[in-house]
Amino acid sequence: MPIPYNQRTCYCGEAGAHLAGQTAILVGWVQSYRDHGGMVFIDLRDRTGLVQIKFNPETDPIAHQTAGKLRAEFCVAVRGDVAMRPEGLANPNLSTGAIEVNGREVEILSTSATPVFEVEDEIETNEETRLKYRYLDLRRTPMREALMTRHRICKTIRDYFDEQGFVEIETPFLTKSTPEGARDYLVPSRVHPGMVFALPQSPQLFKQLLMISGFDKYMQIVRCFRDEDLRADRQPEFTQLDMEMSFVQAEDVQRVIEGCMSRVMRVVHDIDIPTPFPRMTYEDAMRDYGIDRPDTRYELKIRDVSEAARGVDFRVFAEPLAAGGAVRCIVVPGGAQMTRKETDTLTEDLKGIGAGGLPLVKVGAGQDGKPVFETGIAKFFTPESTAAVSAASGAKPGDLILFAADTVANVCKYLGWLRETIARRRGMIPANLWNFLWVVDFPMFEFNTEDGRFYAVHHPFTAPRDEDIGKLENDPGSCRAKAYDVVLNGIELGGGSIRIHRADVQERVFDLLQLTPEEQQLKFRFLLEALRYGPPPHGGIALGIDRMVMLLTGASSLRDTFSFPKTQRAYCPLTEAPGPVAQSQLDELYLRLSLPPSKG
Ligand code: ASP
Repeated sequence: MPIPYNQRTCYCGEAGAHLAGQTAILVGWVQSYRDHGGMVFIDLRDRTGLVQIKFNPETDPIAHQTAGKLRAEFCVAVRGDVAMRPEGLANPNLSTGAIEVNGREVEILSTSATPVFEVEDEIETNEETRLKYRYLDLRRTPMREALMTRHRICKTIRDYFDEQGFVEIETPFLTKSTPEGARDYLVPSRVHPGMVFALPQSPQLFKQLLMISGFDKYMQIVRCFRDEDLRADRQPEFTQLDMEMSFVQAEDVQRVIEGCMSRVMRVVHDIDIPTPFPRMTYEDAMRDYGIDRPDTRYELKIRDVSEAARGVDFRVFAEPLAAGGAVRCIVVPGGAQMTRKETDTLTEDLKGIGAGGLPLVKVGAGQDGKPVFETGIAKFFTPESTAAVSAASGAKPGDLILFAADTVANVCKYLGWLRETIARRRGMIPANLWNFLWVVDFPMFEFNTEDGRFYAVHHPFTAPRDEDIGKLENDPGSCRAKAYDVVLNGIELGGGSIRIHRADVQERVFDLLQLTPEEQQLKFRFLLEALRYGPPPHGGIALGIDRMVMLLTGASSLRDTFSFPKTQRAYCPLTEAPGPVAQSQLDELYLRLSLPPSKG
């Protein structure tokens, strides 16, 4: 008699003492198989966990015989009697460890080829293979749990926003370019020969149009597409919590996000995080941490010693200072203990990100107890410059001072990197700390020396601070934006801004970004037009759901938060996408390929 698998009693991981004495129908996959002196034990697994089933040759010879044929990952249905395990045999490591099921019948629903890797928590298999057999990989507990946590996070977010009066509204995927600083994924149109859709880098312009429509609180958990250069922690398609509100200031948007993240932290980690989150200006973040997404779980702040360094007769300091650069440093408490090997490795790694070297000194104590510099570049210091640099940096005997002397941007880059790297390598990051932070007052524009133009730091729809609107034409470099990023433990969770809601200001910003009036019309006619019809003041933000899941589950890779991610080369080993298409499909789209010779 087939077992009615559609009538399962409960999930495997939910079988417990409450079922003792009852007959249960369970379905799942064979995790493991053991034959103990004739008695066959299997662990049956589904998405909730494991339960042990026992087959006794004496009492259930037929079931026992079938059980003998079971192998890893066979899909089976079992009917059995749930019993408390005998005294002393309970397994405290298993949620169902108090019971076992005496299998009376077993039916093989399907067999399995020998799995290419074991469905275990820890496996050494390379990622390409895991992704090729993702359906097996997703049977593993850590992966399953990551997807379950992802589901709970998304559900919590939706419930929260619903309670706050937000409406989830879908926006198109086949659309026009939405500039967020990446390349577009393009979809050629069959109906309009030679024309292409772009997949959205974000729903930015649609959510602004929704504000103009009067939907004053919008949210969406939405897929975005960005064809970015291959970086370890990026996926070509990723998910955002996107939101927008009308009639608000930055603090109102921030308050909603604080409430949302508090709720998520309560649900996922059962903790209360303090709100409001601290605010830090972009300027302070760059000065003290060298980065616009500071990790505030540890100190190691950057110190400016430019003035004190002017007294040091050392070319590496003098030249950048003369050219308007800076000399700044990080003081590693107790770092004088660091071995030569440690500092050499740091130097080499720092060179890898472009630095010429890593000037350093160890701080010792002179006879009078005052700091003296040893090793590294110590010979360039006089007693006076030693005292000045020690005072400016706050270094004490026993510390290590690591310097960077270059343009301000490079000094920030090197010291920001050193700070994070040292904290990680020296175990200075406290566990179980969740430091949320708002970074505010970003600059509006960034000047690119290569092509001599300004680019929007956030995106071109971000409003300048009211007091800076007048600087748009004369001094764009010093114009600050009503933009804010939310940072968690040194990772940017998301960013947003108050938007420009006046067509004339929007046009001025486009002008400054060197978009000709024709380009403005071609790309953004619909926005400029819509801004003529009573746009409300509005602003919003988008948070990366994948990153959020990664941080909250402790996953080591962003890919472990996706069901079916792409590799770092933007390829899907499972479906082998992207793949070729038939000539007829290309013809329909009026496309002719012109491939580089190697790929022809
Ligand atoms: N559209 C922006 C982004 O994707 C977020 C925002 O400004 O709301 O980063």
